[in-house]
Amino acid sequence: MKRSILFVLVLIAAIVVAPLDAVARKRKGTPKVKNVIMLIGDGMGVAHISALMLEEKYQPINMDRAEAAALIKTYSANNRVTDSAAAGTALATGTKTGNHYIGMTIEGDTLISLITRAEQKGMQTAEVVTCYLTHATPAAFFAHVPNRNQYEDIAVQFVTSGIDVAIGGGTRYFAKRKDGRNLIPDLEAQGYKVAYSLDEIKDMSEGRVVALCADQNLPMATQDRGDFLPDATAKALEILTANCAKEKTGFFMMIEGSQIDYAAHACDAEQIYAEMKDFDKTVGVAFDYADKHEGTLVVVCADHETGGLSLPSKKTDFTLSESGVEYRYGTTSHSGSMIGALFYGAGAKEFSGIMDNTELNRRIAELLGL
Ligand SMILES: [Zn+2]
Repeated sequence: MKRSILFVLVLIAAIVVAPLDAVARKRKGTPKVKNVIMLIGDGMGVAHISALMLEEKYQPINMDRAEAAALIKTYSANNRVTDSAAAGTALATGTKTGNHYIGMTIEGDTLISLITRAEQKGMQTAEVVTCYLTHATPAAFFAHVPNRNQYEDIAVQFVTSGIDVAIGGGTRYFAKRKDGRNLIPDLEAQGYKVAYSLDEIKDMSEGRVVALCADQNLPMATQDRGDFLPDATAKALEILTANCAKEKTGFFMMIEGSQIDYAAHACDAEQIYAEMKDFDKTVGVAFDYADKHEGTLVVVCADHETGGLSLPSKKTDFTLSESGVEYRYGTTSHSGSMIGALFYGAGAKEFSGIMDNTELNRRIAELLGL
């Protein structure tokens, strides 16, 4: 008798408490997310962030401002170590695929990205990168090809992607193609202003633009790239904000610190530092934007870790003061380490714990109502 009463009580409690909990969570209010700025540091592991912090002698960096953090699993559908195509596809579409595949499964099913879904909903979208716009990570947000090296096919698919603002490199794949086609008139027919430098669009404050600022990659941060990434990000945000005000909508924007990956493949500490500093400056632009524009969520993440980077002490005698830190690389390729994700602004606190790269996509989609 006693046991059955207890059972009934537990059952009632379970029935009453479960929905109450859901209601309470809803009432407390998931903050309304109108805009999402997703910054992807290609190849940026936790050690790369740590390297920037220690090179800056632990003076606060922009990433220190993050309000929440998570760890992200990055494996692909056919390899425990992912490439940028599969990882970009997982982040963009919420579905894992095989290495080298962009925006489609190994079986050939088309996967729909956050950018495409945002476009279908009438939102504004943008991509800003320091590689070419047809490279794996940006391509994963609009293209569908079985091999990431199909750059000319990816460029053709870009023309009708609907992306409103795109800034990066890749003139070669649009205007100087091996197949002899010139896609610039096609871009113009879609209403794009086509520019070839940031300078050319400095007075532009609204509308649609494709800025092809290099033949392929922009220069490295250690060369003469200057503040291209933070400046292009600020310009894209300015244009998106004006377009959104006009159309009474929000935006989804993907920014890539593309060359952190190249620096780590090259096992070059100086380049890693320069690329990370540049990326962090761009994170600062995004965080500042979120401070001034209610309803903006900023997600800072990576697609995978490159270099198997570790930062051991130069001397192992810890009774002495520091004698320096080394950069050691486990590989000239990618590793299977989890990557860190940081969150700032509206909805940031909805993210924490360990999650899959596909789950990160799903949570962003949910907050944006996509
Ligand atoms: Zn790589």
